[in-house]
Parts: sequence; structure tokens; C-alpha cells
Amino acid sequence: MHVVSRQEGVLNVVAKKYKDQQYYQGRWSNKTDEAKYNKLVKVGNTPTKDQIEHILNHSWTEYLCDECHKDADALVALRDGKKVIKVCRNCLNSALKLLNKEIK
Ligand SMILES: [Zn+2]
Repeated sequence: MHVVSRQEGVLNVVAKKYKDQQYYQGRWSNKTDEAKYNKLVKVGNTPTKDQIEHILNHSWTEYLCDECHKDADALVALRDGKKVIKVCRNCLNSALKLLNKEIK
């Protein structure tokens, strides 16, 4: 169990994810996508949310809780075998309330 911030879980890996989607069989899908990738590389390894949204759009900076699907700045990563589930503070608090009600 560990905390993963939006910065490390999403923002820092956007350029790589974008390339994985837009670059295949040794070339870019089009010139616009290549230019956007070059802008992503130019902003560095720790881009801000605003920098990415300026180049791409809001969907690339979303960091959604697997339980409530709301956007969060940090999520707790829980492991179920090889699968990782990421949960927000509100959902963890709700889970704890449920558990406390059940076990006194
Ligand atoms: Zn949640």
C-alpha cells in the first residue's frame, strides 16, 4: 500500500503515454501529434497540470479514483495480486466508517 500523487502517477508519464498512443510502426500518426509530443518533451520531466492541459487537454491530467471515479490529487494504491486499485481519501474514509460500524 502506498500513495501515488497526480504528479508521479499521471503528469510525469504523459509524454511517454502520448508517444505510446501516437507513434507506431516507426512513425507519428501525423505532424500535429509529433509537434505536441515535442512540446511535452520541452516542458521537462515534471510538467505542471496547466502545461499539459495547454498542449493536450484536461483528459490527459485526470487522476480518477477506481471506486468513485472522481478526480483527485493523490490516491492510495492497494494491491490485489498483480492488479492495483487506486482509491481516494473520501472513499477510504467511507470504507473505514463502514468497517468501524461493523466491528466495534
Ligand atoms: Zn473515491
